[in-house]
This record gives sequence, C-alpha cells and structure tokens, in this order.
Amino acid sequence: MNVVNPGQPILSVVLPFYNEADHVGRVLTAIPAAIEPLQLPFEIIMVDDGSTDGTWSELQTLCHRDARLQAVRFSRNFGKEAALSAGLAKARGQAVITMDGDLQHPPEVIARLVARWQRGDVDIVDAVKRHANRGGPLKNLAATLFYTLHRRLTGMEMNGSSDFKLLDRRVVSVLNTMGERRLFFRGLCDWLGFRRDLVTFDVADRVGGRSKWSLKQLLRLALNGITAFTSAPLHVTTGLGCLFLAFSAPLAVQTLYMKLTAQAVSGFTTVILLLLMLGSAILISLGIIGIYIAQIFDEVKARPRYLVSEQSETGEGRS
Ligand code: UDP
Ligand code: MG
Repeated sequence: MNVVNPGQPILSVVLPFYNEADHVGRVLTAIPAAIEPLQLPFEIIMVDDGSTDGTWSELQTLCHRDARLQAVRFSRNFGKEAALSAGLAKARGQAVITMDGDLQHPPEVIARLVARWQRGDVDIVDAVKRHANRGGPLKNLAATLFYTLHRRLTGMEMNGSSDFKLLDRRVVSVLNTMGERRLFFRGLCDWLGFRRDLVTFDVADRVGGRSKWSLKQLLRLALNGITAFTSAPLHVTTGLGCLFLAFSAPLAVQTLYMKLTAQAVSGFTTVILLLLMLGSAILISLGIIGIYIAQIFDEVKARPRYLVSEQSETGEGRS
C-alpha cells in the first residue's frame, strides 16, 4: 500500500474492534478498496476496545503502512457504544460512517451511503438491514421482543436498524456534545432528528471469530435503550399500584363489613394471595425504580465514557 498524505479528509470511517486480531488485516483491505473508487480523501479510525488478543499490534502495523489509518486503544473493554463515540470524537471528515469491524456491514454499501449524502439534502443516511435478524433463533426472538417493547414504550421504530450509518459533520458535532455516559448509539441518532434517508443492505456473515456480545452486555444495552429514552416503565408501576388499589378497595369494605357484623372471617387464602401479588408488584416496582436510580448515579458520577491508553502516531508525524 502506498503512503498517502491524508490532508483534510472528506470521509471518515469509524470501526470498533474487540478481539478481532485474526481478520483486521482482511477488513482493512476490503474497506479502503471499497472507498478508493469514490476518489474522496478519507481516513479510517480504528478503535481497539480493550482487546486481549493481538488486535492492537495488528492495528499498529496497519497504521504504519497506510497514513490514512489511525488507531486508538482503550485501557480496557468499555463496550462498542463507547468505542463508536471515541471514533466520532476523533473523526475529522465532513461525513462520518460508523460500521462494524467484522465485515457484517458490507463495504460495498459505503458507496451508496456516500452517493445519497452527496445529493446534499440529508444529514443522516441509515443503513437498514433488509432481513432484520441474522442471529440464532433465540437471539432473533430476543431481538424481536426487545424491538416490540422498545417501540411500544418509546415510540421509536428500531427494527432492522443498525450502527451502520453515515452522519454529516453537523450531526457528529451535536453527538460530540452529548455527555450521557450510558449510550445507546442507535437510539440517540434516532432521537436527534435531522433530515434523513435510508438505504437497505443484507447483513453478511462474520468474516471470522464470533459475536463479541455477552448476554449480560446485550441485556444492559437493551435496558439502556429503554431507560435512556422513556420513563414509561415508572408510569406502568404507578398504573399497577392504582389497579391494585381498585381491587383492594371493595375487599377492604367487605372485610370491614364482616368485622362489624361479627361474622367469622376465614379469608386465609385471600390474604396469602394478596400478599404474594402485592409483594411481587412492589418488588418489581422497586426494581424498575432501582434501574433508573442506577442510571442517575452513573450520570452523576460523570466519569469519562472511556479511557484511551494509546494512540497511533498521527499521519502528519510520518513520512
Ligand atoms: N465490539 C466492540 N466492543 C465490544 C463488543 C463488540 O468494539 O464490547 C465490536 C466488534 O469487534 C465488532 C462490532 O463491535 O466490530 C460488532 O460486534 P459483534 O460482531 O460482536 O456484534 P453482532 O454483529 O453480533 O451484533
Ligand atoms: Mg458482528
């Protein structure tokens, strides 16, 4: 590969990597090859999200070969959302594309995203998955359930949406000022509004390795996705409380009446059932409030979203 003077890039591509050492080389051949025909000055920002394999040394080698590539390394695994925001903060392009570092977001789609942006009437071009789910049956079911719940609670349509997007500089500038710690990138991009359009794509197979999300991470992302955009679950809690009140009021009247008329009350079953129902309703409600409080706690601590431990030398510093 030739060393190219980067200048001011028009296009930036942000790629998060977590333990992808085996195929970063292939990914970083395919992506520049897809952009070169567009004849736009570009840069690629690679974020190593605390990989424990050889990803960082691979990224460094690639950076030395090609001045259009830059790499940032996190001090530990902070999650893909944090990696994307680090990339956005570093990107200098007029348009920034975020995409996965495993070629599941096909590089050929970049040209379509850029062509749509170049028409000049949109600020965000979303790449939407044509067939929404490409995981195992369990993952698909969980995703469908999550998207349905998310749509019901927040009113946002997320099915098929992905982190594969082109964002205009205006949008990136706004995103960079958003200080929330717990990030749900897709949701936040949706929340921003702006003029947008979409192109559809088919999710490709992973280039190698396996999905890096643990069940815990996915659950946390799903919870963040909901709690960051709506307080509806808290209102559900209040609604449940009212429902129980409505049921218990006649029961209370009946109990009182029986007491006053000195009838023997053999309501053991009723008491136990009520206790169980109320007990679980109260615990669930407390749990929901707890989730929101944890979120507030995280935001109040105001810790940085990620810590950078190393960066590749800048393009200007090299020949
Ligand atoms: N990734 C990351 N940090 C993580 C998990 C994943 O940077 O904690 C990166 C990963 O290397 C890949 C992208 O995010 O480039 C998408 O991850 P993955 O393919 O595991 O997710 P899936 O395709 O299953 O949604
Ligand atoms: Mg993937």
